[in-house]
Amino acid sequence: MEGLFVQTENQRAFVETVGRFVEEEVVPRAAALDAEPDPAKCYSWDIVEKAHALGVRTMTLDEKWGGLGADPLTTAMVIEELSKGDLGVAITLGQTLKLAQIFQSGLNEEQKARVLPGFSKDPRGMLAIGITEPDNASNYLVPYPAPFRTVAVKTNGGWIVNGMKHFISNANRASHFLFFAQTEKGKPMTAGSTCFLVERDRAGFTIGRVHDKMGERLANNAEMIFQDCYIPDENVVGKVGDGFNELAKFMPWSNAYGGATILGVAVALHKKAVDWAKVRVQGGKLLIEHDGIRAQLAEMRMLIDASRAYIHRACWLAVHPEHGWDKTLGALPKVMASQATWKIATWCLEIHGGHGYMKEFGVEKLVRDAAAYLHSDGVNRTLFLKAANFMFQK
Ligand SMILES: Cc1cc2nc3c(=O)[nH]c(=O)nc-3n(C[C@H](O)[C@H](O)[C@H](O)COP(=O)(O)OP(=O)(O)OC[C@H]3O[C@@H](n4cnc5c(N)ncnc54)[C@H](O)[C@@H]3O)c2cc1C
Repeated sequence: MEGLFVQTENQRAFVETVGRFVEEEVVPRAAALDAEPDPAKCYSWDIVEKAHALGVRTMTLDEKWGGLGADPLTTAMVIEELSKGDLGVAITLGQTLKLAQIFQSGLNEEQKARVLPGFSKDPRGMLAIGITEPDNASNYLVPYPAPFRTVAVKTNGGWIVNGMKHFISNANRASHFLFFAQTEKGKPMTAGSTCFLVERDRAGFTIGRVHDKMGERLANNAEMIFQDCYIPDENVVGKVGDGFNELAKFMPWSNAYGGATILGVAVALHKKAVDWAKVRVQGGKLLIEHDGIRAQLAEMRMLIDASRAYIHRACWLAVHPEHGWDKTLGALPKVMASQATWKIATWCLEIHGGHGYMKEFGVEKLVRDAAAYLHSDGVNRTLFLKAANFMFQK
């Protein structure tokens, strides 16, 4: 029973390689990219291409498709490592790593043969998923009987799609997307929506605004716009009208990846707090010699370790469900990690005093980043409701 809470040699070696990549290629550039006023300019293809050269971009693909066949636990470790350097880079690559796994399990053989070889070879191959719409967000997490506003109408050999998705990670960078549209009028999205595959260059599909975000700026989020876009039947993923079940089936470990994505920010904040406490003298001694501060640094450590254990447990049980998977593990690890990170962000700021508020110390960027996962991958309150529904069978 390999893997649970114990790093194997291979995992350790790969995570260390990613750690060096982060130190050499991400950390030196993150602050300058983050400070670009134009959100599109915060993105670095160079970082993506270097991650590709290391095998990180495609690591979750099976070897047959040119990947390393990494399991969810190893992937979560790598995502956390990326996020120690920059949250946006972790999201850019993490979203692609997650979707590559979904493409492998959700696409049919013809679709995989059409998409995966090109994606695998392209150093800029990125993936995205469009579910959220201006009027439908938490509605798909705690299912509410509304339809998606993005509509696909049947025509000869395919579908005509109209509508839009927003806030979509990687939307303006991806080569391939999954998205959900309403295919049955008069039914809620849970019963009448379908999952489709769409390629970047398809006529009638364009990218709208790139959102100007408060944090995680090295990742881009944008709108997906469909205007009489023809999608052939060959691009239906799973069964027509069954999009919601596809969605639920795809991602038992997705929430844990969200947790790993934000946890690296907590580790970076904790390190900053410790480093500062070791050099700043007030009250006649180093901050770290004041008991209140030492105790707070230990509490931060506990929150990080407990969040990581929860994330790793969810990743491991998602592939070994017979040992005790329960559905709350698909909703709560991200909540715990993001709440812990937010608490650690405010404590790190406090330990830095006024210095933390000055941009030059780098705490300010981490605080903006720390806010991102209070709602990304589902607002925390919504995820508590989702977990409660699992627990109490609603
Ligand atoms: C950085 C970022 C990246 C994202 N990436 C993607 C992506 O790649 N793909 C994608 O599809 N989406 C993506 N999203 C969308 C994300 O999943 C949604 O933003 C999120 O689900 C929240 O939606 P909302 O902002 O519309 O909030 P709302 O759903 O409007 O919620 C607002 C508030 O109401 C509460 N609420 C909602 N419903 C209920 C209820 N039934 N009972 C009680 N309280 C309720 C919520 O908890 C929240 O506090 C991303 C968002 C961000 C910010």
